[in-house]
Amino acid sequence: MKISVVGTGYVGLVSGTCLAETGHTVYCVDIDKEKIDKLRMGQLTFFEPGLDAYLQRNIKEDRLHFTTSLKEAVEKTDIVFLALPTPPGEDGSADLKYILGVSEELGKLITSYKIIVDKSTVPVGTAQKVREQIAKNCKTDFDVVSNPEFLKEGAAVEGFMKPDRIIIGTASEKARHIMAELYAPFVRQGNPVIFMDELSAEMTKYAANCYLAMRISFMNEIANLCEKTGADVEMVRKGIGSDNRIGKRFLFPGIGYGGSCFPKDVKALAFTANELNFDFKILKSVMAVNQRQREIFFDKVKKYFNGKLAGKKIAVWGIAFKPNTDDIREAPALYIIDELTKAGCEVLAYDPEAMHNAAEYYAGNAAVVFKKNMYDCLANADALLIITEWNIFRTPDFEKIKSMLNNPVIFDGRNLFEPDAMQEKGVAYYSVGRGLQLER
Ligand code: NAD
Repeated sequence: MKISVVGTGYVGLVSGTCLAETGHTVYCVDIDKEKIDKLRMGQLTFFEPGLDAYLQRNIKEDRLHFTTSLKEAVEKTDIVFLALPTPPGEDGSADLKYILGVSEELGKLITSYKIIVDKSTVPVGTAQKVREQIAKNCKTDFDVVSNPEFLKEGAAVEGFMKPDRIIIGTASEKARHIMAELYAPFVRQGNPVIFMDELSAEMTKYAANCYLAMRISFMNEIANLCEKTGADVEMVRKGIGSDNRIGKRFLFPGIGYGGSCFPKDVKALAFTANELNFDFKILKSVMAVNQRQREIFFDKVKKYFNGKLAGKKIAVWGIAFKPNTDDIREAPALYIIDELTKAGCEVLAYDPEAMHNAAEYYAGNAAVVFKKNMYDCLANADALLIITEWNIFRTPDFEKIKSMLNNPVIFDGRNLFEPDAMQEKGVAYYSVGRGLQLER
């Protein structure tokens, strides 16, 4: 099939490349010329494991093309995926200006039957808005399908190639058949393609992300209570995770969720509920708990230094919102680094992949210094904070840490180490939800 993907960011590039990998001809479109130029030369624009090999192969095989011209892409293809941003507006609602702007342009460009597939995360009712926007200028038959994306940054290629399920929201038989054929290579192991109405498809994406965010906030609350009771949240996590009804995933306590999806999607669903005069109590708590979790972590550091952070040098390991990505959007590390610098600290930071994004974010802020390797951050630092659970941080050289830090103290927001082992090594160790902690 001939497919265009409008928006060549995390979702668009992964989707386009993986669709090309299964033999389709794909045109990826973006308004960012620099991005398109790089991709044309076979250079990735973000870090994602496994993506480079697919990119090189499909460019070479002439199945994957990059353009800044929506017109060129639409003319050459029959299915148009929208993988455009839906950032939160001031009020928390999903901003649809990219989706609706492109939809209006599409209306002028469509001259034969096309399926417009919405992959972006959009509020319930958006497919109809897209339809109306296209129809303003279009005389030709077309279908709009809701096909939310569930890929996970850091494991996006695998997630796209072997999805747990594919959700297709459409009332059109014709679109349904074409979409089933398109996705057939991705579900050969029998994972379901679930067809439903478009409103339910749009809601499914928000319900999934909000549910996962809720699990994280719930475990963070259990962790906070563990710190007051002396229980160990890691034991509790194993204890409940082995219950089949609960399952093991998304039960890891820490310093709260971040990234480009959970924070904005929770906010957007809360906004939708509010608009409909529905008091979605759980979602409000999920957001409040997530914010408080970052504050609790920072307060532990502050408390340790008796509130006197000014002039301290703090080493930070991990900036990306999770491991295996260079994405720092809404990363908890940004909150922690901001609070540290506001309190007068100098921050020495390292991340295996996200430093270029972080350096851009903190450009001009002399209080944040990036180091080339994880140990370089430690020289004369007063404490080490671990914010992202990259594998490289799991087995550090503790003797080196101890000899380089002014103070052998680690604040671990991801529970990477055993508290007893840390005690034996002579490291003061503060993690999340494991035994009685410093009073707030
Ligand atoms: P992104 O910011 O990485 O990419 C969006 C791209 O769209 C950018 O490259 C931008 O330049 C481009 N763009 C903006 N306006 C354009 C226009 N008029 N024409 C062409 N290109 C344009 O965003 P993303 O992370 O890929 O997310 C896209 C959507 O997918 C969002 O709705 C998001 O919620 C959803 N989603 C994201 C993930 C994820 O893990 N990132 C997972 C599932 C769903």
